[in-house]
Amino acid sequence: MKRCQKCGYENVETMSFCLECGTPLSGAPMVFNLQDSDKARNQSASE
Ligand SMILES: [Zn+2]
Repeated sequence: MKRCQKCGYENVETMSFCLECGTPLSGAPMVFNLQDSDKARNQSASE
């Protein structure tokens, strides 16, 4: 379980945000740039 640091609500491991108050849970990436990782994959694929 992931306990929300703001309200104390216990969320399931897969949750990125608290179900109770919407606060991002610790360990969850705030911003994940999918375009950057996609570009890197294309560069290695073209080799
Ligand atoms: Zn919360």
